[in-house]
Amino acid sequence: MVQRRYHRRVQLPIAIVAVFVMLWGALWGSFLNVVVYRVPAGLSVVHPRSRCPQCGSPITWWQNIPVLSWALLGGRCHHCKTWISVRYPLVEAAAAVLALGVAWPWLPGLASGDVLPWQVAVGVLAEQCFVFALLAIALIDSDTFLVPDVLSLPLPLIGLGLAFAVGPLRGVTWQQSAAGALAGGGGLLAVQWLYAVLTRREGLGTGDVKLMAGIGAFLGVQALPAVLLASALLGLLFVGGWSLVGRGKLAEDRGLSSIRHLAMPFGPFLAVGAVQWLLLHRMASHALARWF
Ligand SMILES: [Zn+2]
Repeated sequence: MVQRRYHRRVQLPIAIVAVFVMLWGALWGSFLNVVVYRVPAGLSVVHPRSRCPQCGSPITWWQNIPVLSWALLGGRCHHCKTWISVRYPLVEAAAAVLALGVAWPWLPGLASGDVLPWQVAVGVLAEQCFVFALLAIALIDSDTFLVPDVLSLPLPLIGLGLAFAVGPLRGVTWQQSAAGALAGGGGLLAVQWLYAVLTRREGLGTGDVKLMAGIGAFLGVQALPAVLLASALLGLLFVGGWSLVGRGKLAEDRGLSSIRHLAMPFGPFLAVGAVQWLLLHRMASHALARWF
């Protein structure tokens, strides 16, 4: 009887948990917008407070509510009415969805008591760290063609730590994590070297090497072939679609004779490949386990 009452008290309705997790994610998304804007410029991410880039007026708390403020303000600065990019609310919404997507598979284990609360906390927070870093890296890489070390270098360490702490629960042992970091980083380094030797120019940045080491550490060596394949296919689809729709306009805009000469950041595709593995692979294996 006591046991049942206790159980009923801790079991929050799943919808309330989901709303809280999404709010949490949206707040991080708001911070990621600051990171994406300031880290490439070498500015502090905590100081000063956010300001309108046009008129410099400080953004107050009610103008800074994720997604909602942008909609309420009609996508314009409250003071000078300059358009605020739709990317800001989109990043906040994406972070909310990612936060929930990462937390979701952990919730049944928490509700049934099969997984301890600290294990869920460590697993969810570390995986959210991973997807938020990937989101920021994807945006910064497509803006500036650089992957900042401050975002990519901690990933292999956090991934390996996560594998030590709750590895078996995620299906990634520390050995698979360590092998993933080495094979991911080393593999990309080898490709880069080969590309440079064959074409006598640099193709991939060293930022991608560190990023791939982080992806390998989080997802394990077993995920790397699928992640690389998905990223390469996404990149090809993107270039193909772009050259069909834009008819090389992007290349023209950048003063290039053909889309083939267009430099493409690979980081965003690696990030998408890694996130889709993290979210879909686990979902698929859950569904398969239920059916067979
Ligand atoms: Zn303004």
